[in-house]
Amino acid sequence: MALSKGAAEAAEIVRNYDGPKIRVMEVCGTHTHEIFRLGIRQMLPESIELISGPGCPVCVTPVGYIDEAVMLALEKGVKIFTFGDLIRVPGTKKSLADAHSEGAEVQIVYSPMDALDYAKAHPEEEVCFLSVGFETTTPGSVIALRNAISEKVENFSLLTANKIMEPAYLALKGSADAFLYPGHVSTMTGMEVYRKIAKEWQISGVVTGFTTSEIVTALATVVRRVEEVRAGERESFAENCYPSVVTEEGSPAARKLVDKYMEPCDTEWRGLGIIPGSGMKLRDEFSKYDARVRFQLPKVQGKASPACRCGEVLRGLIRPMDCKIYGNACTPEHPVGACMVSSEGACSAYYKYGDTL
Ligand code: SF4
Repeated sequence: MALSKGAAEAAEIVRNYDGPKIRVMEVCGTHTHEIFRLGIRQMLPESIELISGPGCPVCVTPVGYIDEAVMLALEKGVKIFTFGDLIRVPGTKKSLADAHSEGAEVQIVYSPMDALDYAKAHPEEEVCFLSVGFETTTPGSVIALRNAISEKVENFSLLTANKIMEPAYLALKGSADAFLYPGHVSTMTGMEVYRKIAKEWQISGVVTGFTTSEIVTALATVVRRVEEVRAGERESFAENCYPSVVTEEGSPAARKLVDKYMEPCDTEWRGLGIIPGSGMKLRDEFSKYDARVRFQLPKVQGKASPACRCGEVLRGLIRPMDCKIYGNACTPEHPVGACMVSSEGACSAYYKYGDTL
């Protein structure tokens, strides 16, 4: 592929880097997939190591959440609406797909508004949307909730597992020399959050998009800045290599909307445990739309398969093929862990694009 002059120079910087090893964590699952798909891994020298991180919302959703959704569907008679990937993620005993094959009502949608529309058309049924995701997808759930309230839809609820990335960076501090920050999430948060964590916690990273030019430019920026850090010329860095899309302030309007209906809470991330202040739950005044409250769900402690090492994959401690059941007992057709299910998961990316890297 033809690169612009600037991107070609960036590619040379990356290709020719032969200093001490630089570890770069792709926070976003889409970056992991695009880096594979575009053949960028093949151009990297051994001294630049890419490791996959926790930025796939389906992958970091804990087993207990799947168990709650299965309970709603099978025991409480609630019709579940969800994004597609979540349906095949194994719970402690069964997935939502298993529940569906046992007669539970589970439907894939592309937007929470589809679930709300169904609820409006079927007032005799209880409808729950599985509200999973980071800063990018949370506003969609909140808009559906806002409309449900204003249109007095009484049979609609959310099962929340929404997450915010900032506390996760602190939990992952030290995992890499720099993060490749997620492009989509950054459109919401803006650069301010990265400047803050660089200053307060000395966490470094670069925001980038998804083309070859954008990714190699970001990697060349990481190389230059890490060299400056190692030379004692700076303590940390936060760079925007996606300025056509990501601004300093992000989307204050979307953040304000989310803040009106949700508040931060401690929440569990698969593989990372409970990270204080990293979740979003409905504010108390909207609790009748909270499926956990509405259907009095008990506290659930989910248990992943003991063979699954998704937790270590999500923290960048091992590569997918270091898991003993990768590619044999665990495949995209028969996933044992969430990282093999999701189209953004690290295990599915390695499986699809080649495990020899
Ligand atoms: Fe989990 Fe499967 Fe990945 Fe192993 S290969 S870590 S079981 S998703």
